[in-house]
Amino acid sequence: AAPKDHTTVPGRVRVAVRLRPRNAEESVADADFADCVELQPELKRLKLRKNNWDGETYEFDEVLTEFASQKRVYEVVARPVVESVLDGYNGTIMAYGQTGTGKTYTLGRLGEEDTAARGIMVRAMEDIFANVSLETDSVSVSYLQLYMETIQDLLDPANDNIAIAEDPKTGDVSLPGATLVEIRDQQSFIELLSLGEAHRFAANTKMNTESSRSHAILMVHVKRSVKGRDASHSSENGNHPHMVKSLKPLIVRKAKLVIVDLAGSERIDKSGSEGHMLEEAKSINLSLSALGKCINSLAENSAHVPIRDSKLTRLLRDSFGARTSLVITIGPSPRHRAETASTIMFGQRAM
Ligand code: ADP
Ligand code: MG
Repeated sequence: AAPKDHTTVPGRVRVAVRLRPRNAEESVADADFADCVELQPELKRLKLRKNNWDGETYEFDEVLTEFASQKRVYEVVARPVVESVLDGYNGTIMAYGQTGTGKTYTLGRLGEEDTAARGIMVRAMEDIFANVSLETDSVSVSYLQLYMETIQDLLDPANDNIAIAEDPKTGDVSLPGATLVEIRDQQSFIELLSLGEAHRFAANTKMNTESSRSHAILMVHVKRSVKGRDASHSSENGNHPHMVKSLKPLIVRKAKLVIVDLAGSERIDKSGSEGHMLEEAKSINLSLSALGKCINSLAENSAHVPIRDSKLTRLLRDSFGARTSLVITIGPSPRHRAETASTIMFGQRAM
């Protein structure tokens, strides 16, 4: 049957783990040490090493090694979500991990010179444009930054205190104050995203913060006009054998794809920070732990999903319970074993 409620599709969060290759510095400095993880992609397993011959093993929906291409990552992490958005269901894709492990590489790479390097955002748009008809359908995007419980419009950075609106009847979340740009092709999307990135960089320089301390949120609204159910379906129940076969009303299907490049998950030493840094650390901990709690309660089918705890979870309210993919990104360095372990646990709890 056609979906009545766009926002709720049963099904848990799909969790993929992606390992970034060693960078030049790690290749030299850690040359004598094994990676902190060992991947078994065919078994969809990952071992977190305690030492060279021992460790705990974890299972994920997908295990992506340092050799996984951007194309493959798109296919396993994002494509099912994009397909369901095209079918009229909301969908969410999130990247969680320590700063420097490849969240932005995975989601946000534009790949202007090298199309093979394109990340999930650009590939998702490509997929959407390949499947909609611009005569009857529309695709619009907003791009936002969420920092210290404040939402800033990255397409109009002066607009830096955007309110979240919730429809009390449907539970739909919207940002009436955010710029929503209708786009008609891949190239204009890339230009828009790169403009948003430039604004993000400038805003963060002005505030003297790192972009890794904020969440970047891309919202893609897909509105499609599809033909209603064929009259032959109705005649199956025998009630209206004369139902006019050509009666196929146009149904408007709206769905939202939300892609979130989360703030770095690294634990900030709160004892060492004070003032603004401390407030920032608290705010990131608050939103990431609220996100974790909401995902966990979905995984456990718990009746209480603590949406209200942060702006991030309020913003994702109508995305929880929709198709959701989480990619957790980790680095290979044995020096970051503790952060890697905590990222793995976040991913495990989501399943
Ligand atoms: P994050 O957004 O999590 O802070 P980035 O995406 O900025 O991390 O990645 C940090 C660095 O590692 C960048 O220089 C990026 O190009 C590189 N990198 C990340 N993932 C990969 C990968 N899978 N393959 C090659 N380089 C990667
Ligand atoms: Mg990043």
